[in-house]
Amino acid sequence: ERRTSSVLRVESITRSFAGVTAVDSVSLEVTAGSLVGILGPNGAGKSTLFHLIAGHLRPDGGRVFIGDRDVTRLRPYQRAALGVGLVFQKPRLFEGMTVLQNVMAGRYLKGNAGMFASALRLPRHGRCEVHAEQASREQLARFGVPDRYTDEIIDGLPFGVQRRVAVAQALGVAGSVLLLDEPAAGLTGSERSELAESIADLKAGGMSILLIEHDVRFVASIADSLLVLDRGAVIAEGPVRKVLADPKVIEAYSGV
Ligand code: ADP
Ligand code: MG
Repeated sequence: ERRTSSVLRVESITRSFAGVTAVDSVSLEVTAGSLVGILGPNGAGKSTLFHLIAGHLRPDGGRVFIGDRDVTRLRPYQRAALGVGLVFQKPRLFEGMTVLQNVMAGRYLKGNAGMFASALRLPRHGRCEVHAEQASREQLARFGVPDRYTDEIIDGLPFGVQRRVAVAQALGVAGSVLLLDEPAAGLTGSERSELAESIADLKAGGMSILLIEHDVRFVASIADSLLVLDRGAVIAEGPVRKVLADPKVIEAYSGV
């Protein structure tokens, strides 16, 4: 394993479903405190790429590294122990639990992941959470979830609130890498601006972030670089302006 400054590295990862190549030899690298925006039409393979990184899907080929460690064969909770948090495109929240309990559950999962990490002598991310409840309340506030929702059962709350709870929950898991799959979907314009600010704050705090988002302006406002997928393959990557001016990108988006 070579030494790198990258927090997350994906090497030629490939995954097919029933003969259809959903992710086709994709490579990417994220350094500490940087944000890579991932664009691409529906079905381009964006969510599949995240599931391959978080370990919810096994690749047919290629490798995933967290820091210098090859995690390609590790389970999702083992990758969480190494600091990878994922917000699914369809938030997976615990029904019947309150907003606060949902966020605390994320921290609990991280705690277990931490025990796993020490058993394997992997580096631990995050300190012992003595004030888990206080920290969870702060995470909710940070992502603009109003106090009045904190002790409400999650089911039936407005979709925008559920989304922000999901981000706060993943933040309890994410130590070094946060994967956000369309976190702004279903949010109003002002909610989007708030979310963009919160994400920019996380980045400023050193978090490495991969962000899938359809709203190009939203991504462009906070991304350091972009990666564009089309039919599973990378069609453009690099600095935001360069990628947005790329004729291949303009063409891929013209049909949307
Ligand atoms: P995106 O997130 O960019 O919209 P996805 O990663 O969800 O794209 O899907 C990429 C392709 O892989 C699509 O053709 C989709 O139908 C297919 N796909 C994704 N997940 C599965 C699965 N679990 N089983 C079969 N096909 C899948
Ligand atoms: Mg998707």
